[in-house]
Amino acid sequence: ETIAAIATAPGVGAIAVIRLSGKEAFAIAEKIFSRSIQDCKTHTAHYGSILKADGTVLDSVLLLVMKGPRSYTGEDSVELSCHGGRLVTERVLERIFEAGARPAQPGEFSLRAFLNGKLDLAQAEAVQELIAAKSELALENAEKQLEGALSETIATFQKELTEIAAILEAWVDFPEDDLEFASMDEIIAKLEGISLRMQKLQKTFHDGKTLHEGISLCLLGSPNVGKSSLMNALLGKERAIVTELAGTTRDLLEEDLRLGSLHFKLIDTAGIRKTDERIEKEGIRRSQIAMQQADLILLLLDASRPLIESDLQLLKETPKNKTIVVWNKTDLSKPPIEMESVQISAKEKTGLDELKQAIHQTIWKEGPPSKEEVLITQLRHHRALSNAISACQAVITGLQSGISAEFVASDVRCALNELGTIIGINVTEEILSAIFSKFCLGK
Ligand code: GDP
Repeated sequence: ETIAAIATAPGVGAIAVIRLSGKEAFAIAEKIFSRSIQDCKTHTAHYGSILKADGTVLDSVLLLVMKGPRSYTGEDSVELSCHGGRLVTERVLERIFEAGARPAQPGEFSLRAFLNGKLDLAQAEAVQELIAAKSELALENAEKQLEGALSETIATFQKELTEIAAILEAWVDFPEDDLEFASMDEIIAKLEGISLRMQKLQKTFHDGKTLHEGISLCLLGSPNVGKSSLMNALLGKERAIVTELAGTTRDLLEEDLRLGSLHFKLIDTAGIRKTDERIEKEGIRRSQIAMQQADLILLLLDASRPLIESDLQLLKETPKNKTIVVWNKTDLSKPPIEMESVQISAKEKTGLDELKQAIHQTIWKEGPPSKEEVLITQLRHHRALSNAISACQAVITGLQSGISAEFVASDVRCALNELGTIIGINVTEEILSAIFSKFCLGK
């Protein structure tokens, strides 16, 4: 079937792109275009008109012809750049449907690219991550994955495991021949090596997820310490309402914030303190949830006054490994007590660079991931690696305890299957549809 969809974002724009892919793509385009494209060379653009059923002009467009397999989907494809009005674009798409195409499902172009071997599954997932990337590092990682860095790493594991499977299977087939392919110790050592490298890759999930989803950063502090002021200073614009009355920030405010190469979801809270007021109680309840869920907490204290009970309570309650203590209002006075902290003035915008640095250090405790390192970002990949690692461990224990090579070899096959799912070998239709249905329409 030939599919079509608007590939640009919905709404009004200078131009909109409509994409058509499938066996009939050229024939369908031919039916509604003012010029013949049958003899056009591939990868050429043609100016002309899309015609209504009565032969009058609907829109003038630029039509791009791409013959399979040299296209994104691997099929014959046509892209139409038309005027970017919502209505005109829809009308052109309707004409394409009248001429024989059917509406594409979300992600269906990428699904076809995968099915036609233009991309493996990890690369297809990278396409979506590239589109969704909200920070420099997330973008770089998606680009690497799209170029095949993760797929290559997986392929290396597969190659080594396939060799081991072959040796084990030879032991099964020719048990009486004392085949000297490799000693048992060598095989175990190899398996341990592979297992260790898989574990290392699996551990990148934390960093990968941090990059992909953003870091939730929670601002905590007693009323009036300057949480809203700091949030505004970090955002560089007025978002939270700053007031001199205590307890005005009653809802959790969330903002996207890009600091350097990272993406944060900044959460402002009502602070945690004892109160009878109902709405404020709700705000406090949410703060406590935010505190548990946050990847990072900035605990604000007011340097211009001694610590109060709620400050002490917060200092006690916040998990140390993800909390940065920040003294605010240092333009008024020095902090009343010394502790590991960052000193700022949200009002005078001083100390913000030091704060950003402290944030980076807390997130990347062992240093930021290197540019070369491949990070996994999908839970699916994490699970497959876990299963592959367990299967390898089972092989090692099996060999050590003298279990028949037949059973052990089947565990190696199991590890291979798990790795294969990452790049899309032997994945079920349900998995495919779960992955691709999250894509944008037209991608
Ligand atoms: P929140 O209740 O923690 O969100 O506190 P706000 O951001 O609303 O600030 C409370 C009051 O402290 C406001 O009057 C701010 O102008 C003031 N304030 C915030 N940060 C500073 C600072 O760094 N220096 C001084 N002098 N005043 C500040």
